[in-house]
Amino acid sequence: MSRPFELDTLFRALTTLPGVGPRNAKLFEKLLGGPKVLDLLWHLPVDFIDRRFSPTIAEAPNGRIVTMEVTVTSHSPNPRKGLPYRVKCKDDSGVMSLVFFHAHKDWIEKQLPDRENVIISGKVEYYQGNPQIVHPDIAPVAERETLETVEPIYPLTAGVTNKTIRKAMHGALGFISKLPEWLDAAYKKQQGWGDWDGALEAVHEPESEKELLPESKIRQRLAYDELLANQLTLSLVRHRQRRINGRTFNGDGSLRAKLKEEIPFELTRAQERSLLEIEKDMAEPARMLRLLQGDVGSGKTVVAAMAMLAAVETGAQAAIMAPTEILARQHAATLKPWLDAMGVRFVTLTGRDKGKTRETLLQQIENGAAQIIIGTHAIFQEGVEFADLGMAVIDEQHRFGVHQRLQLSSKGTGVDVLVMTATPIPRTLTLTAYGDMDVSKLDEKPPGRKPVETLLINNDKLDSMVDGLARKIQDGSRVYWVCPLVEESEVLDLAAAEERFDILRQHFGKVGLVHGRMKPAEKDEVMARFAAGELNILVATTVIEVGVNVPEATIMVIEHAERFGLSQLHQLRGRVGRGGEQSYCFLVYSGPLGETAKERLSILRETEDGFLIAEKDLQLRGGGDILGVKQSGLPAFRLADLSVHGELLAAARDDARLIIEKDPDLKSERGKALTTLLYLFERDQAIQYLQSG
Ligand code: ADP
Ligand code: MG
Repeated sequence: MSRPFELDTLFRALTTLPGVGPRNAKLFEKLLGGPKVLDLLWHLPVDFIDRRFSPTIAEAPNGRIVTMEVTVTSHSPNPRKGLPYRVKCKDDSGVMSLVFFHAHKDWIEKQLPDRENVIISGKVEYYQGNPQIVHPDIAPVAERETLETVEPIYPLTAGVTNKTIRKAMHGALGFISKLPEWLDAAYKKQQGWGDWDGALEAVHEPESEKELLPESKIRQRLAYDELLANQLTLSLVRHRQRRINGRTFNGDGSLRAKLKEEIPFELTRAQERSLLEIEKDMAEPARMLRLLQGDVGSGKTVVAAMAMLAAVETGAQAAIMAPTEILARQHAATLKPWLDAMGVRFVTLTGRDKGKTRETLLQQIENGAAQIIIGTHAIFQEGVEFADLGMAVIDEQHRFGVHQRLQLSSKGTGVDVLVMTATPIPRTLTLTAYGDMDVSKLDEKPPGRKPVETLLINNDKLDSMVDGLARKIQDGSRVYWVCPLVEESEVLDLAAAEERFDILRQHFGKVGLVHGRMKPAEKDEVMARFAAGELNILVATTVIEVGVNVPEATIMVIEHAERFGLSQLHQLRGRVGRGGEQSYCFLVYSGPLGETAKERLSILRETEDGFLIAEKDLQLRGGGDILGVKQSGLPAFRLADLSVHGELLAAARDDARLIIEKDPDLKSERGKALTTLLYLFERDQAIQYLQSG
């Protein structure tokens, strides 16, 4: 099976399009997020210039959008501070003004040369009895012939104008072919949607404001296609995973009972419930593919330990995999006293184990001496053979994609998989990332936690906050200080963080810095020194390693808090408040905050419920926040906006499940069309699955 030929043109390089050459192709690619024609077609307009109505000045009605050819007669740059720049112009019927706020004089003079004719478009307003247009679109008369009557406006980047985009787009639109319909006919009809090719053409020829909205029929159809491709992939993965029979773990419960005695606390109801769900999965012959979702500190580790013991009780091995060396070591440290007390043998294997040590560890894993294996992804690399791996726990999933989940479970036959994530993501996002899994939720915290006091601080007040920190540090507090990477230039960002690091070091002495450019081992070392108390402050440019547990850390400072997604802020805040001491989180923002921004940050002051925060975050920021989604590692969508298309996602999920139930190899007529859809969205993994049969 290979890509259907109808898609070939869409997968051609952008340089095959008019106006895109070797020089600007890179700019295009950066703007579009991809190098092919389809990436351009998926670049959707955000506005349009309407040139359908061209009255004379005298006839131009108040409030209408018009396009007129006029002659520039005079410029009056801001006569007084605070007043706009006005340009007078005329035609045979009368005079009018063009009005610009905060505009550059040079730019306006270039766009509207005195005594020359130009074509302007915009909404006419009457001001003190005279017509004017604020911030008109301007085109030179030389372009009259090529001006589009309705010109869609696209997101741009320096070096790529709307004109070049339109030119290339005209070429790209010609590359669209009719494709077989992959939608269910009844559903398509019920939604009132048209065909794929028509929708893709129409989305680039908007004729009203309404058509620009994600709720429009055209955009809904395209969004649904994308969501269906996503859900179909996950359903296929799920189906293939489940086809291999799992094992039935019916241990006698002896080790689990011992662990319950060993731990100095009672399990919360949420922990009990999740554990029951896991044990039920493990006892059944179908493979477990379960996500354990719980906020930082909700007590996932003990649940994972119980699940692993359920496998060990039957003589099988269990593994737990963390995303970093330091987290793996932390798991080992947490589990050691418990496992030792029960006489369960374990090994810790990470990329750092080399030579003889590694050999010994590998042997213990292979001959079954190790009952539990703790480590990083090193535990499922080539060369690691398990005696009998029965279940695997993957901690902090968002670093591991679907692909890695599969790799690990290939290490044993029918390995039961439990994925743990501390990212409390909204239900809709859970579906897009984990639609192939069943979900257990730890939605209740262990008792006795002191809420973290959260404060919003303006950047101007940073100095007095630092003075306050000095006192806290003297009393033994440790501080995380986050300087996010947000600028276009990583170099500049890093410089900002290094500057902060220098300032703090002059103040406090024992300060460390971790950033994305460091090698993992270097990062780990700095964090280990912070954990050991050799450093008082840890400055970080990237999100601090999820899950690092330093109970003495009681203060979290986050600069440019307004640039983070709420869930990320919440997760960062979760690094503190882990010991008995009162903890604080300072959300430092710069400049005056808008209403929405204030509302967003205030949510964090009001609640520590990660799930609630995640829902609100999605509502408030919509699909607009790039940083939040990108850094969370969740799938990003080109056409779908999950804050609006949540219902479509749910429908796509049901659709996908039904399809795979009825036609798991996508052999039917619709199945074949759906394969084209998978190719369209480059769901390579799903296609591989189909091919492997
Ligand atoms: P997570 O991995 O979900 O962030 P952990 O498993 O590290 O959370 O648990 C956080 C802390 O809470 C640990 O010190 C753990 O021993 C403790 N803990 C877990 N469950 C309970 C409980 N039911 N009651 C009291 N403390 C608990
Ligand atoms: Mg944890």
